[in-house]
Amino acid sequence: MRSRLRIGIAGGGLLGRLCAWRLALRKHEVTLFDAGDFERPGGACWTAAGMISPLSELVSAEPEVYRMGLRSLELWPQWIAELERQTGLSASYRHAGSLVVAHPLDKAELAQFQSDLNAKLPAGETLQWLDRAGVAALEPGLAEHFEQGLYLPSEADVNSRLLLQALLAALRQSEVRLVANTMVECAANRIHWNSGSERFDWVIDVRGLGASRKMTGLRGVRGEVVIIETSEVSLNRPVRLMHPRYKLYAVPRLHGQIIIGATEIESADMSPISLQSTLELSSALYALNPAFAEARVVETSVNCRPALPDNLPRVTREPGLICANGLYRHGYLLGPVVVGQVLDHFLREEKHAA
Ligand SMILES: Cc1cc2nc3c(=O)[nH]c(=O)nc-3n(C[C@H](O)[C@H](O)[C@H](O)COP(=O)(O)OP(=O)(O)OC[C@H]3O[C@@H](n4cnc5c(N)ncnc54)[C@H](O)[C@@H]3O)c2cc1C
Repeated sequence: MRSRLRIGIAGGGLLGRLCAWRLALRKHEVTLFDAGDFERPGGACWTAAGMISPLSELVSAEPEVYRMGLRSLELWPQWIAELERQTGLSASYRHAGSLVVAHPLDKAELAQFQSDLNAKLPAGETLQWLDRAGVAALEPGLAEHFEQGLYLPSEADVNSRLLLQALLAALRQSEVRLVANTMVECAANRIHWNSGSERFDWVIDVRGLGASRKMTGLRGVRGEVVIIETSEVSLNRPVRLMHPRYKLYAVPRLHGQIIIGATEIESADMSPISLQSTLELSSALYALNPAFAEARVVETSVNCRPALPDNLPRVTREPGLICANGLYRHGYLLGPVVVGQVLDHFLREEKHAA
């Protein structure tokens, strides 16, 4: 029989929840610490749009991000199905591709995006160039305003907040010990907090930006989003707008809500959204369809993506301590693969003990 390990996880954001859930499924005894509240996490995961878009990212990211993203696209549906079966809660995972559009005046931006993507596109991957009728067939709400678009059928997205809530329910069902409102520090085999510490067989440090004192080079990249609600126009999938000044997306959620994002500012500033960003994000949505003018702004949200100098994720291991960080703008895109790398350490340990 394989041994049941006592595992302490620091950080109850996206990586922390996924690691805790997968390890609890393997019957390990898991404790998850977070600096804040589990119902409404303070990490980047809560602000994220939840796009799983390896192709859109390929233009600006390393090919490795694309390759890992493809693997995640295979894993997410299996993991979501398991999670939904276990909890009875939906994470609103959607495999409907994404659409990239530009106004006729900005069509050079769209052509540039397509040519940059084509230059990096691996064999077998498909893009679909759409005319007005093609755009209308996918997104009737945009039909009047766009003569052309680029459809990336393989992309997906997940409702980040529903996913985090479903994961929390699964952790509770699996009797993961949840320790909220506790700032911790990590060491090999030990998690420390203000008034105490606890020993574990393994510690997993997934504190995102909270690990910046310990992890050299970790920086915050500020991202701002606006969430609106409307019954005037609906979208069926993430839509990216190419524009000379801003490249922004609109991701539809339940009950007529749409998340519009996101700025990308080299700063760990967590202060509220600026007026300029509010204007640019709102203008981008208005540019998709002026009928959005009557939408109600229901929330603005700001957070910082945890990024390393190469903007790639990193998993490190020393005896008694595993650290995973640097998910940057790719937490949902790469989450299952990075968590898989963490879990591999335990699988090896289990095999060794057997
Ligand atoms: C505006 C925006 C949009 C984004 N959109 C997307 C997207 O569409 N697709 C995508 O793939 N990615 C997106 N991301 C990126 C994604 O959100 C991150 O990559 C992901 O959340 C990183 O996960 P994480 O678990 O490493 O960190 P986090 O999600 O930040 O979680 C870290 C957790 O650690 C806790 N913590 C920190 N310090 C301590 C401490 N000392 N003690 C205890 N707990 C601590 C925090 O409270 C938090 O809960 C977006 C990010 C932003 C900001």
